[in-house]
Amino acid sequence: MKKEIILKFKEILGEKNLIYEKERMLDYSHDEVSLSEIYNLPDVVLKPENSIQISEIIKVCNFEKIPVIARGGGTGLSGGCIPVYGGVVIDSENMKKVIEVDKENFTITVEAGLTLKEFYDVIGQYNMFFPPHPGDESATIGGLIATNAGGARAVKYGVMRNFVRGIEVVLADGSIENIGGKYKKSSSGYSLLNLFIGSEGTLGIITKATISLMPPLEKIYTLIVPFENLQQAIKNGPLIIQNGIIPLAIEFLEKTTVKLVEKYLNKKWPCEIGNTYLMIMVDGSQDETLKIAEKIAEIVTENGALDVFIIEDEKRQREVLDIRSMIYEALKSNTIEILDVSVPISKIYDFVCEVKKIEKKYSTYIPTYGHAGDGNVHNHIMKGKFEEDKWIEIENWREKYKMVKYDIYSVAKKLDGIISGEHGIGYLKKEYLGLFFTEKQIEIMKEIKKIFDPNNILNPGKIFEK
Ligand SMILES: Cc1cc2nc3c(=O)[nH]c(=O)nc-3n(C[C@H](O)[C@H](O)[C@H](O)COP(=O)(O)OP(=O)(O)OC[C@H]3O[C@@H](n4cnc5c(N)ncnc54)[C@H](O)[C@@H]3O)c2cc1C
Repeated sequence: MKKEIILKFKEILGEKNLIYEKERMLDYSHDEVSLSEIYNLPDVVLKPENSIQISEIIKVCNFEKIPVIARGGGTGLSGGCIPVYGGVVIDSENMKKVIEVDKENFTITVEAGLTLKEFYDVIGQYNMFFPPHPGDESATIGGLIATNAGGARAVKYGVMRNFVRGIEVVLADGSIENIGGKYKKSSSGYSLLNLFIGSEGTLGIITKATISLMPPLEKIYTLIVPFENLQQAIKNGPLIIQNGIIPLAIEFLEKTTVKLVEKYLNKKWPCEIGNTYLMIMVDGSQDETLKIAEKIAEIVTENGALDVFIIEDEKRQREVLDIRSMIYEALKSNTIEILDVSVPISKIYDFVCEVKKIEKKYSTYIPTYGHAGDGNVHNHIMKGKFEEDKWIEIENWREKYKMVKYDIYSVAKKLDGIISGEHGIGYLKKEYLGLFFTEKQIEIMKEIKKIFDPNNILNPGKIFEK
């Protein structure tokens, strides 16, 4: 990058909010994706303190045609914030202000760099609740909106899209726009707000957001239900919903995976029996919640459950949720990529069975778990397999990787699913977009990108090439 441009950035930000030494930029060359082949260093990392500074930076980049990559917590799982063509990384670390807590409208307005952990802490002080819970609390509000993140608790209350009321965004020409507001309903032309939610930093940099909140849930219970086999476990997810109960979360996971996380975290899963588990979270009033839990216990017992463990203690519930949330971390050292296909809930079982066939076909290991309540399934494509207490390299894992991925996506397509339910397309999934969308649809997406970003400076090479 030319010296004059670095000087311009220094003028805008001051010396301290600029990083250009290689060693200090290493952390910005990747997100949580394990595939190190795609890591790449930016030319410079900038840490602006407000939207006006971002606007000034973007004007320079737009004029010079320099890539601009928004980065939040770097917890993404699709390579979304990796500067694959170098350029400027905009780190939102210095933008964490809580601008307003509006108790009348049940909204909070914050800057985009606030992490999920910080966000939960703030709303907790005001006795308010925010249902979405993606697994890594160092993700930021900006990143969560840009990926339309979900998480285990999406079944009942939905994903980020259901909670974002308004955003402030800096566009590719440097203009600062406020989109949406605090209102709940809008039938007012095309929804620009919804276009930005899930746009992965390719249409603008989100700098502030107004998020809707809820009163705190009175009571939450977590149920752990063991089953002899995967089929019984997965089929019980839709059954619970068909019986008129919408839990906060319905997760499925296999014993082999649970054992790995127990070892990694040194924490204990509440039950030993069975080979597959459902983890179900329910909420409601004090009296109601136990009744709902008991009703679920009845349904699953009639349909193959080996036992039902109802957990009331909050600390123990947290530990169980931690085990579920840390699966990725426990498998990461031997994961090439984690997928997040979404299929109709009636087809989760078929999807998982097909994946088991792919696992066999390629003599590989594909740990599979996920959100049985909304059809969003995680498959890890692995380079190692855990056997006899150690990781063993899978033969020809490099050659198998793309074939396994293609086969899994083909099955998802066949079962009326979609490529990504919550992590986004980013860099890793873009070559498979054509399996799920027609040429016309991709063309429309590209035209939209051109309107917002004619010079293709905003996170180039993500979602699609150009
Ligand atoms: C252990 C673990 C568990 C996870 N569990 C879940 C889960 O359950 N559900 C789920 O949905 N995700 C999950 N994730 C993925 C990840 O946490 C989410 O994708 C999260 O939304 C990313 O937020 P971030 O701030 O880290 O964004 P980053 O990784 O920094 O960036 C992600 C994308 O958002 C863009 N972006 C970031 N900030 C902005 C901004 N201010 N304006 C515009 N674009 C921006 C980036 O350019 C990039 O394209 C998990 C990740 C890990 C490591």
